Amino acid sequence: MADNKAERRKSDNVLLDTALQEFYGAADEMGLSEKLIAILSHAERRLEVSVPVEMDDGSVKVFKGYRVQHSTALGPAKGGIRYDTEVDVDECEALAMLMTWKCSLAGIPYGGGKGGIACDPLSMSKKEKEKLSRAFGARIAPIIGDWSDVPAPDMNTGGQEMVWIMDTVSKLHGRFEPALLTGKPIPYWGSKGRTEATGRGVATCGLELMKKLDKNPADIKAAIQGFGNVGSYTAKTLSDAGVKVVAISDITGSYYNPNGLDINKAFEIINHDPKHLLNGFEKFGAEKIEDALFAECDFLFPCARDGVINNQTASKVKAKYIVEGANGPTTPAADKILIQNGALIVPDFLANSGGVIGSYFEWAQNLQGFFWSEEEYNDRLVHIMKGNFNRVWDYAKAKNIKMRRAATMAAIQRVADVVELRGIFL
Ligand code: NAD
Repeated sequence: MADNKAERRKSDNVLLDTALQEFYGAADEMGLSEKLIAILSHAERRLEVSVPVEMDDGSVKVFKGYRVQHSTALGPAKGGIRYDTEVDVDECEALAMLMTWKCSLAGIPYGGGKGGIACDPLSMSKKEKEKLSRAFGARIAPIIGDWSDVPAPDMNTGGQEMVWIMDTVSKLHGRFEPALLTGKPIPYWGSKGRTEATGRGVATCGLELMKKLDKNPADIKAAIQGFGNVGSYTAKTLSDAGVKVVAISDITGSYYNPNGLDINKAFEIINHDPKHLLNGFEKFGAEKIEDALFAECDFLFPCARDGVINNQTASKVKAKYIVEGANGPTTPAADKILIQNGALIVPDFLANSGGVIGSYFEWAQNLQGFFWSEEEYNDRLVHIMKGNFNRVWDYAKAKNIKMRRAATMAAIQRVADVVELRGIFL
C-alpha cells in the first residue's frame, strides 16, 4: 500500500469518535506509517446477531447482540460482554479498540474485543437472562474460542452469565472449553485472586509512584472514590502497605478522617450491608464530607465510574497525584485542568489493567488444567504491574511527555510492530 495520507475515520458515536481521534493523535505523534494507521483504525470484525428469547409471559422478544474484534495481531481478542440498553456496535468497537491498547500495554498475548446485548437486564427474570445468555453464546460461537476470542464479564454480567455462555458454546463445539472465557466463579474453573486483582494493581501503581517520588507510604494520605470491587481492594492494599487512607466513598456518601480510616471496619460494614454499601460508616470515627474527590490528600484514586473529574469538578481536586482506577474517570477537558494545576496522572488503562492481567492468569491456568495458589497469582500480578508502571514511567521521561500519552504510544507501538512483523496478509 502506498504511504499516502490515509482517510481518517469519524463517528457519530462519541465513544468511538474519541477512541479514533486519540489513536490518530498518538499515531501522528509517534510518526506511525499511514498504512499502519489505516489498518489499526478499523476493527477486524464487527458481528451483529439477533438473540431470540421466549419471555416468561410466552411472548418472543428478539434482542440485538454484538461482538467486535478490533485486533487479533497479538493473540486472541479479549474483552467483556455487557448487557445494557445503550449497547450498540460502535460502542463495542470503541471499547474493543481500547482493549487492544490495554492488553498490549499490559504485555499479555491478547488483542482487543468487546461485545454485548442491547437489553434491560434489570427488568428480566433469571430464567430469561439464562435464555438470553445461551442464545447469544450460540450466535457468537463461530467466532469465539480459547485461541480466537476470549470474552469476560462487563457491565451487568458476571460469573453466572459466563457459565451459561461457556456451557452452551462448549456443547456446540463438542468439547469442554474452560479457557473459552474468563471471570468464571472459583468453584467452576475460576481463579483465586481475581476478585482483588484490579484493586491490587491500582494500589501497586500508586505504591510504585510513591517510590519514584521517594516518599514513604506511611507519610502519604490517600482518598479513594468508590468502594465497590476496584475501590475497596485498592483501599485495602494501600492501607495494608501503611498508607493513610483518609477518605473513601460510595453512593451513600463520602467519609473522612485526617488521621486515617479503619478500612477493615469498612469491609465489615459492606459485608453485612444487603446492598454492599458503606451505610453507617460515619459511626466509626469518620465525618461525612462533600466528595472524596475533593478531600485534602496527596494521592487520589477515582475508582467509581467514568466522567467524575470534569469541567465542573477538576479545579476542586486537591491531590497532586491521581491514579485512575475506574475507566475514563477524567474527561479530556478536566485532564488539561489537572495538568495545568500541576497534577501527575497515572492513566486508567495502565492503572486498572490488573483486571485483564488477572483474566490472562485464569486463561493460562485453564489451558494448563493446573491451578495456582493465591500467593503465586498475587506475586505474578504485582511483578507484572510494577514492570508495566516502570516501562511507562521511563518512556514518558525519555520522550518528555505525560504518562497518558506515553502509555498510549507504547501500547500502539507494540501492536504496530507485530502487524509489521506478521505482514499484511488480507
Ligand atoms: P462496582 O459496581 O463494584 O463499584 C462501584 C462503586 O462506586 C460502588 O461502591 C458505588 O457505590 C460507587 N459509586 C458509584 N457512583 C459514585 C459516585 N458518584 N461517587 C462515589 N461513589 C460512587 O464497580 P467496579 O467493578 O468497582 O468498577 C468501578 C470502575 O472500574 C468502573 O469504571 C469499571 O469499568 C472499572 N474497572 C473495573 C474492573 C474490575 O475488574 N471490576 C476492571 C477495570 C476497570
